[in-house]
Amino acid sequence: MIYSSKDKISKSYDVIVVGAGLAGMTLANKMGRDGRSVLLLESHNKLGGFATWFKRAQKEGNTQHIFDVSLHGFPVGMIKTCRKYWSREIAERIHQLKSVRYINPQFEVETDFTKEHFIKVLNEKFSVPIETVDAFFNELAHMNFYDNSQMTNGELFEKFFPGRNDITRFLLEPIVYANGSNLEDPAISYGIVFSNFMSKGVYIFQGGTDTMITMMRDELIKNGVDIQMQAQVSKIEITDKKVSGVVVKGHTIKSKSVVSNSNILSTINKMVGPEHFSSDYIKKAQAVRLNTSSCQVYMGIKTGESIPFVGDLVFTSEDSKFSTDLILSPKVGSQTFSVYYPDTRPHLDPQYAIVSSSNARYEDWINLSEDEYEKQKQHLIERAITGLEKIIPGVRSKIDYVDAATPLTVQRYTLHERGASFGTKFEGLDVSMNLHKEIDGLFHAGSVGIIMSGWLGAANYGVIQAHEVDNYLSRLEKI
Ligand SMILES: Cc1cc2nc3c(=O)[nH]c(=O)nc-3n(C[C@H](O)[C@H](O)[C@H](O)COP(=O)(O)OP(=O)(O)OC[C@H]3O[C@@H](n4cnc5c(N)ncnc54)[C@H](O)[C@@H]3O)c2cc1C
Repeated sequence: MIYSSKDKISKSYDVIVVGAGLAGMTLANKMGRDGRSVLLLESHNKLGGFATWFKRAQKEGNTQHIFDVSLHGFPVGMIKTCRKYWSREIAERIHQLKSVRYINPQFEVETDFTKEHFIKVLNEKFSVPIETVDAFFNELAHMNFYDNSQMTNGELFEKFFPGRNDITRFLLEPIVYANGSNLEDPAISYGIVFSNFMSKGVYIFQGGTDTMITMMRDELIKNGVDIQMQAQVSKIEITDKKVSGVVVKGHTIKSKSVVSNSNILSTINKMVGPEHFSSDYIKKAQAVRLNTSSCQVYMGIKTGESIPFVGDLVFTSEDSKFSTDLILSPKVGSQTFSVYYPDTRPHLDPQYAIVSSSNARYEDWINLSEDEYEKQKQHLIERAITGLEKIIPGVRSKIDYVDAATPLTVQRYTLHERGASFGTKFEGLDVSMNLHKEIDGLFHAGSVGIIMSGWLGAANYGVIQAHEVDNYLSRLEKI
């Protein structure tokens, strides 16, 4: 059932999930289906977390533009995850993107983003001997999460493609956009994410994020999960080192276990309080670096206008060399265009939308005066339209709506500290996974450690933690 935001919930639950991102929702759905009593609490007025969308009125006409915030592409594994933990109908709406393009001063490539095609491009276009290409893919395939290798992304690329900045750009640029990785990050995080994407191309959800989240909400209700939105959890209650419930608007709701889908650091520092943890754990938590944030420019095309097919995802850059540091800076010449054609939402009009994305750092935005902030936003918008005109000449006059989001927008809407759009760096995974060893019945599921972020990573982490919570509840039942 769906509670109204004013309801004071008196029922006690097996598990309360704090936050309805893809990790929290997937965990709630699995546990509800397995017969556990589950309450899903979300501070926003809709489910989905970063998997979200918004509508804006057209200048002319009375229909609305609809924009997807994070539906740019995910790996094929999402089909299996959705089929197994959601429904066949949801899985069947996942479709492969036809064309991923790179346009930059070093090279132009169009690819379906499959491993076979990448091998071909590396060998034929970048003239890398096939044995080296095979050895590179072999190294990725044998990367083991538990090996604790210290190799960084930079070292990985130097090992196989020494001095080849163009190849680093080809292999790393999409992953930098996908999860904010840089050359200093552990190669294992790159290896896992890249291998996921590389297996069979890039996928999106036909019908848009709104359709997917609505289908998921219906599934949650069908599986007996109770939901309350506009329900921000201010506190996770701990009694004798054991979780006992959560506080929403001053009211306590009791439960045997709690899973936080909120940022891991907010969970520890704000909702629980550092005094409840061992000093060793807090030391580790303090060392966790948040991941970077991002800027987007949303452009809606007028009803009745169309644009030609120019690719689904277009990685563009004006920068002569690839640098992960530059990619985060406001001076960057790189941006990725996600182009939404009528087949995304065939039932709606207007049917074309374009989103420009670029990575960004919170600190480059938080200290701007109101005037500077507006100027910087206008700069983003102008850069996006100018960049898009190079791919679709004349598109400016077809754009009916445009606005930009910055790291501050991300923080405001998602409660993620510093607008971190991809959780934490690698070390966050250990802190997240060991939360339940510090406080009985308290778990975390959500973007951490790069590999557990993104639509697939978050959903899969929800499944992993659902098993942990279930084991905990079974142990309680035996006592
Ligand atoms: C601009 C952008 C583009 C992206 N593009 C892609 C992409 O193309 N492909 C891809 O795979 N991934 C993409 N991602 C990343 C992906 O969307 C996220 O990694 C994933 O959706 C995160 O899911 P999550 O479960 O960690 O939770 P989140 O989405 O972070 O959701 C957490 C939820 O918890 C709620 N919450 C937090 N605190 C509380 C509280 N105290 N009480 C109640 N509720 C609370 C929040 O409101 C939120 O709804 C993108 C992200 C961004 C920002």
